[in-house]
Amino acid sequence: MQETSIKSSKQKISKSLNEKPIYILGPCSAEDRDQVVNTAVDLARRFPNAIYRSGIWKPRTRPGNFEGIGEKGLKWLREAGDLSGLPVATEVANAEHVELALSNDIDILWVGARTTVNPFYVQEIAEALKGVDIPVMIKNPLAPDFSLWLGAIERFEKIGIEHVIAIHRGFYNFDSKPYRNSPQWEIPIQLMANRSDIPIICDISHIGGSPELLPLLAQKAMDLNMSGLHVEVHPRPSEALSDAMQQITIKELATLIDGIQWREPSTSDVDFKEGLQDLRNKIDQVDQQILSDFFNRMQTIARIGSLKKQNKVTILQVKRWKKIEAHYLKEGMALGLNKEFLQNILHLIHEESMRIQHEIMNE
Ligand code: PEP
Ligand code: MN
Repeated sequence: MQETSIKSSKQKISKSLNEKPIYILGPCSAEDRDQVVNTAVDLARRFPNAIYRSGIWKPRTRPGNFEGIGEKGLKWLREAGDLSGLPVATEVANAEHVELALSNDIDILWVGARTTVNPFYVQEIAEALKGVDIPVMIKNPLAPDFSLWLGAIERFEKIGIEHVIAIHRGFYNFDSKPYRNSPQWEIPIQLMANRSDIPIICDISHIGGSPELLPLLAQKAMDLNMSGLHVEVHPRPSEALSDAMQQITIKELATLIDGIQWREPSTSDVDFKEGLQDLRNKIDQVDQQILSDFFNRMQTIARIGSLKKQNKVTILQVKRWKKIEAHYLKEGMALGLNKEFLQNILHLIHEESMRIQHEIMNE
């Protein structure tokens, strides 16, 4: 590449990455030259600062599905970048992919969810990038394992990659309904809390798995103040060779983005600030009360533990536990509290109560 074109491509990349929100858009897979190039050119009209993505090697969970067009797609992707003016990105899953992507002047690389789960692969890819100045986007691992995600990020940082971008694409769970991959927002929130220096993009397509869920997911991601959105687009979604169920057209994407309510992380309005402070004070008082109620409960539990120990009675009495759970679930739901939240909190309290009794009885 000529020095001047390297410079302008670096400028384009940093422009796209400094946008708020950052948009990563494009088809799941590169299928043919026209699809790759035309989609990029059409996207650039509406999203001139987007990053254009397309998979060349597709990590399919089961064999027999479309496994990507392979190396020749890299040329189409480069051409798409040159004609649209958008930086282009593709997925790399091993050192050979890295070498081919770099020799075809791909601007940005990403590591897929099936690769992030494996530190050996992550390390191999990272080492292939030693000394290379290229942004790397790291999808969360398939499993809801925060450390694995952070670990992959750290491996790239350690070999000197300056621009690491995290992509939240949801997690595999035996039952993720209604999503394709459950969002488990607490995990990207944990990443934001630990690494506020890294942009985190929400891949609403792989979380949702179907177009109806996209608007809600996009709104939620923006309300959590995430750095951007990743959406798969295809000129004829139903004919796509991979992820046909979840891709949308550029027109549908434009409608989706127009439907987002944009909110700021803060405002200088004095009435708002005072109102918020009042409510936060109230919350602090309630939390303090909850803490002391928990303390009282656990102290009483300890006394129950001693009593059971003296009388040689077992810790768990399933009947009583079931009765308590059903009672408070009903009461809580009557108050308007969410069923899943109630179940989670009741289980947590019960687990801790059993742990305390266990400790006392085995002292
Ligand atoms: C993709 O982005 O097309 C892809 C394969 O994603 P993931 O690694 O999140 O499954
Ligand atoms: Mn896909």
